[in-house]
Amino acid sequence: MTFGALDIAGIQAGLRDGAFSAAEMVEQMLARIRAVDTQVHAFLEVTEEMAYAAARLVDAAIAAGAFEELGPLAGIPIAYKDNLNLVGTHTTCASRMLENYQSPYTATAVQKTLDAGAIPLGKLNMDEFAFGSSTEMSAFGPTRNPWDLNRVPGGSSGGPAAAVAAGMLPVALGSDTGGSIRQPASFCGVVGVKPTYGMVSRFGLVAFGSSLDQIGPFARSVRDAACILNVVSGRDSHDCTSQECPVDFLDSLYGGVAGMRIGIVPAFLEAPGLDAEVKTRIEEVTDALRQLGAHIVEVELPNARAAMSAYYVLGPCEAFSNLSRFDGVRYGYCASGHADLSGQYEASRSAGFGPEVRRRIMLGSYLLSSGVYRKYYYPAQQVRTLITQDYARAFETCDCILAPVSPRPAWKLGEVSDPTSMYLADMFTVSINIAGNGGMSMPVGLGAASGLPIGAQLIAPAFHDQNMLRVAAALESVYGIPPVACDVPVARGGE
Ligand code: GLN
Repeated sequence: MTFGALDIAGIQAGLRDGAFSAAEMVEQMLARIRAVDTQVHAFLEVTEEMAYAAARLVDAAIAAGAFEELGPLAGIPIAYKDNLNLVGTHTTCASRMLENYQSPYTATAVQKTLDAGAIPLGKLNMDEFAFGSSTEMSAFGPTRNPWDLNRVPGGSSGGPAAAVAAGMLPVALGSDTGGSIRQPASFCGVVGVKPTYGMVSRFGLVAFGSSLDQIGPFARSVRDAACILNVVSGRDSHDCTSQECPVDFLDSLYGGVAGMRIGIVPAFLEAPGLDAEVKTRIEEVTDALRQLGAHIVEVELPNARAAMSAYYVLGPCEAFSNLSRFDGVRYGYCASGHADLSGQYEASRSAGFGPEVRRRIMLGSYLLSSGVYRKYYYPAQQVRTLITQDYARAFETCDCILAPVSPRPAWKLGEVSDPTSMYLADMFTVSINIAGNGGMSMPVGLGAASGLPIGAQLIAPAFHDQNMLRVAAALESVYGIPPVACDVPVARGGE
């Protein structure tokens, strides 16, 4: 029995019918993780004992005829990006700064999956503190793309994307501040959803940019992503930005796109740096949607061209503020042997943080310094309003926007080494976080030339995430669910 390709419904049917027990499934999945992850390095911590304990509860419930009472994720293996707290695990944010940090409580979104019956398999790799687009910035070594081990899985949630793509588990949770769910999902050929800001509680997520961060699912199918969204969304008293979310995302999933208005942004397809292969695929996807009965309308987001500049002001400013708590006294690695406090701070933060984290902190500290913040931070906030208004106007004439996720498919490890080129990987994703809308990456086949997965981005009006999921389900009926990558321990292009 291989579990790698099974979805939520398949696993639950197998458990219910007695084809396998939860304990047997966990044993098999851990064996696959051991075999594949020596190559891929998606996991930072495997929670074997917790997984078997949860599996025993599932098996006991099945024996007692109470399987359905466990909840909608009964028996579903899941793992979490390592910036999500889970009691009994470390939460390292892939940083030396938090190498020994034990989760003091469990994030609301994580707890909701456990309360719904999921089986926790562990914590997943990421760019340090979620700064990056390739997972090469992890202090514990990069994750590799299961489709081609010489390539990056995208970032910063490279661990969750690669683990799901490689069939180590069916679903995972990640976080997205400027593209960190959608871009790795597109690089790894899986579904990745950044819900509308406020749909999922951020309580227990280590903050990067509090006004931009959202937690969301990775899955191989749209249906599985919708199942996870149903479980994790909703108001939480621990996060005052979270909202009630009474929608059942499964309800309208297969309603089809006939009569739906899909917006395309001509300027996005003319963007410098957009790979021809990606452009052609997005045009093909547009045609496919038209053939399924959707109305294609052109929309304009005139201020989106300023999104990158605004994001790389607002993001570092918020990160600078959020990361000030990691000083070796309140939290994190503490360098010893310093007589004075400022020397200790400096040594702790210099040794604890990697280069990209230091770069963002320095940038944020400069941008917020007196005399400077009026020049950058204020205009960036004004640009934010303009971009939000652009989206609101666009959504008066369409129900969902189709766009590229990333200007190009997965690049080789080490290929993009200067920070600015790395930042450009987010040119199509950051404006959605700035405006707060829902956005997702949907796999739409492999590139004809590269043979690598390509993702189409679907963007929904705030709190209408069901629109993009419905379009995604229609695309899934055209492009299918990509096969499990890395089906043998060593994939194409390995060492
Ligand atoms: N790649 C972007 C950055 O480096 C986005 C990161 C994210 O969404 N966490 O900031």
